Amino acid sequence: MNSFSIHPLVDQGIVRGAANFAGGTLSCHCAAKAVTVRITGNVAHNHACGCTKCWKPKGAAFSIVAVVPRDKLSVTANADKLRIVDSGAAIQRHACRECGVHLYGRIENRAHPFHGLDFVHVELSKDVGWAAPEFAAFVSSIVEAGAARPDQMDDVRARLRALGLPPYDCLSPPLMDAIATHSAKAKGVLAA
Ligand SMILES: [Zn+2]
Ligand SMILES: [Zn+2]
Repeated sequence: MNSFSIHPLVDQGIVRGAANFAGGTLSCHCAAKAVTVRITGNVAHNHACGCTKCWKPKGAAFSIVAVVPRDKLSVTANADKLRIVDSGAAIQRHACRECGVHLYGRIENRAHPFHGLDFVHVELSKDVGWAAPEFAAFVSSIVEAGAARPDQMDDVRARLRALGLPPYDCLSPPLMDAIATHSAKAKGVLAA
């Protein structure tokens, strides 16, 4: 497992975020005319994600992805370089058409439990103080992604626990509860 990278941002241990962090700027990987996104305030629910859709750096098994209210995010340069990776996906990932980096993912379906939140990767920012990753989601999906063999998964989960990232095969319990609460209210089994 020595060469196995969860993600460069956490492989050497987790750096805690700063209280009262005011936000910062994300940039794509283009050397010239980079797409930039400004975020006001900190991110929430930052986590490692093993799904096959999130953008991740080469060699990493997981992405690091967090959410921010969509009204706290604005594209500040070279918006014309953005394209939607899959307009049919629940989360529409806006990527740089040149370098392929995903600047933000947005949910347009108002009935979606996470509507109003954008998904972002804080590693695209040089600013220091972003909230640290708290858990690992969709861990089993790294097998589907071809990033790990099934017989490596015990070691992967042990490594995640050692880093302080409890591994889940869907989302964390608070987020799964949020989805279930949204569904229960929509069905009328829970008072809105
Ligand atoms: Zn780019
Ligand atoms: Zn993901």
